[in-house]
Amino acid sequence: MARAPFVIADTEIKAGTRQTVEVPVAKLYTHTPLHIPVEVVHGRRDGPVLMVCGAIHGDEINGVEIVRRVLKNSALRHLRGTLVAVPIVNIFGFVQRTRYLPDRRDLNRCFPGSESGSLGGRIAYLLRTQIMEKVTHIIDLHTGAIHRFNLPQIRAELKNPETVRMAEAFGAPIILNASLREGSLREYADSQDIPVITFEGGEALRFDDVVISSGVKGVVRVMRELEMIPSKKGPKAPRKRSETAAMSTWVRADIDGIMRPVAKLGQKVRKGQRLAMVADPFGETEESVVSPISGIVICVNNLPLVNEGEAIYHVARFDELGEAEKAMDYFRSSLDPEVTEAVLPVHPWDNDPK
Ligand SMILES: [Zn+2]
Repeated sequence: MARAPFVIADTEIKAGTRQTVEVPVAKLYTHTPLHIPVEVVHGRRDGPVLMVCGAIHGDEINGVEIVRRVLKNSALRHLRGTLVAVPIVNIFGFVQRTRYLPDRRDLNRCFPGSESGSLGGRIAYLLRTQIMEKVTHIIDLHTGAIHRFNLPQIRAELKNPETVRMAEAFGAPIILNASLREGSLREYADSQDIPVITFEGGEALRFDDVVISSGVKGVVRVMRELEMIPSKKGPKAPRKRSETAAMSTWVRADIDGIMRPVAKLGQKVRKGQRLAMVADPFGETEESVVSPISGIVICVNNLPLVNEGEAIYHVARFDELGEAEKAMDYFRSSLDPEVTEAVLPVHPWDNDPK
């Protein structure tokens, strides 16, 4: 018997076909209707229904490109299950190049939402009822905030074994056991027992090819792990891909000033090691910013102008720092030097911590 069609926004997508569907959201006050574009790849055979979504924060655009590249993957011709790709969830923010909605709400704090609520609540409600209630697994793609560059990392609530399976399969170098933010997509999915992982990589309003390609590889690896697409032939990855952090902490500037970064993204740092210098424009007052813990730098602030108390480095601590270093070494060795050179002539990945 043929697999039942996938239904979204009154559109039926037959098994063995793919289709882009415009899910109506709202009308602009210009009377122009607005839609969230969704591409559904509905495999011939039964299997998991995976939602991959990007730009729930409208300025976090790496995920949009990750989704585009995943959709080009030829293995989707033999898909088992269904891929529901939502490259741009916060279409308002994406058009305006901002994280937020026009009413300045954060869409990722509006779940579960309601049909008669604010704009954010309505979009959350729509995403939930039209898509999330029909999926079995979710990958939510994010980047750092503006001027903050995240090392590719997975954030997930590591209580659900299926979530752990997805997080490990993704293969980003670092996994953070992240508690659920109230009103987030991840919190809602978790409340419905839908395993969900968040990928974080790069910074807002910028493309980074290292981040994008690790995101694409990660989504494909999860699909392989879920047996949605065939596994690669040959031996499995021999080396360690990911290490889970015990905790992480933001390191803040102690004074207002101009920052000169010392530590680089992905670098191992020791407790008390200098991460940056902050000085006033004349250099009369100058202070070192040091790491309060030993760990790996997982986010850097790229804007040198800092206020007192501003978060400038995010450092993750590990029970076994050596294992995290191995995961970082594996990540660096997996980068294509030609791609990284072309995209980022002075990229943050080539650090030499020794
Ligand atoms: Zn985000």
